Amino acid sequence: MNVFVVNCGSSSLKYQLIDVDTEKVIAKGLCERIGIDGKLTHKPAGKKAVEKELPMKDHKSAVSYVLEALTDQDFGVIKNLSAIDAVGHRIVHGGEKFAKSVIITDEVLEAIEECNDLAPLHNPANLIGVSACKALMPEVPMVAVFDTAFHQTMPKEAYLYGIPYEYYDRYKIRKYGFHGTSHSYVSKRLIELLGKEGKESKVIICHLGNGSSVCAVKNGVSVDTSMGFTPLDGLIMGTRSGSIDPAVVQFLANKLDCSLDEVLTILNKKSGVEGVSGVSSDFRDLDKASMEGNERAKTALDMFAYHTARYIGAYAAVMNGVDAIAFTAGIGENNSKIRKAVCDYLGYLGMEIDDLANDKKGEEIKISTDDSKVGVYVVPTNEELAIARETVELLG
Ligand code: ADP
Repeated sequence: MNVFVVNCGSSSLKYQLIDVDTEKVIAKGLCERIGIDGKLTHKPAGKKAVEKELPMKDHKSAVSYVLEALTDQDFGVIKNLSAIDAVGHRIVHGGEKFAKSVIITDEVLEAIEECNDLAPLHNPANLIGVSACKALMPEVPMVAVFDTAFHQTMPKEAYLYGIPYEYYDRYKIRKYGFHGTSHSYVSKRLIELLGKEGKESKVIICHLGNGSSVCAVKNGVSVDTSMGFTPLDGLIMGTRSGSIDPAVVQFLANKLDCSLDEVLTILNKKSGVEGVSGVSSDFRDLDKASMEGNERAKTALDMFAYHTARYIGAYAAVMNGVDAIAFTAGIGENNSKIRKAVCDYLGYLGMEIDDLANDKKGEEIKISTDDSKVGVYVVPTNEELAIARETVELLG
């Protein structure tokens, strides 16, 4: 069974075609600059990647180029579209309406649309991707997999903000949390590695990439996470500030004589480790600059490790213990220095890192010593595979 996984942004579309029986990626790719001019990068498994400039006036034309590429005589991977059995769509925000993935129907589309004002940059683009696929593959069943759904199990004390309750009632202002597909996938795998499926378990997942979040998972369900009403909250990230005193927003608007929108753009796009270091949002550049003696790059890296450790400590406290933690995503999977720096804060939990194991990159591995009281693992995430699995599970 082949599942076409679609992750649609406002001017981009990432896709993978996955054979879910073997869990192999048959082809993957990216459409960029949709609505501007258009570029397709298509990578069929075992063949050379193809790059093409194509006029993509909208997402429907982008999807149609992707479907042409998948069935192309030279660089295609399937004979015709009937080889696509289902489509799994990544949808950023499911609000409180969706606590799990769903088969897409007209009612579901309406309900997703009602969440649009919670994610005005993402949800409308995700929905455009759904309609583009529906228009070109009307008979193929489609499933929506939400970034927020995994966190719908958080208790009220974790998700409510300390503001008048009526704003929660009226406007649904609360913590939602994101990266749910990744936290769900990695925590399931970690619990499997611990041999604790179906048993009591307390694990903490650190998804550390351009966007970063930490998630506390008790007995397989999310009980708290660091991102909030939006993905701006929580850890310091590549270009996002993470949590700051909200009074800074008005103070900065006054000082810069600019609008609240402009301050939010600064907090989303010009802050984080890039803003602190003045070097880059990429941790490889920061590592290099720090080694060359750049003090601000070093401070940015120190802040990132400190903030991550702070969340782990907080989540170990609210779960009254932790069996294991997992690092995942670009930084979590590849940056041994950050992993070490984070774990150095956590010796009081009895956490001990095996430096040799920690030197490995990008593979599933236990990096704590056998004596460590808390297991520490690297578990590569795979959001596309998680979406494909959910799609199959729902469609039976
Ligand atoms: P996104 O949130 O955009 O998916 P990623 O998960 O790819 O981001 O994470 C991007 C970060 O991961 C960058 O800071 C980069 O330095 C780091 N990273 C990604 N791949 C590697 C690698 N192979 N080696 C070292 N660092 C990496």
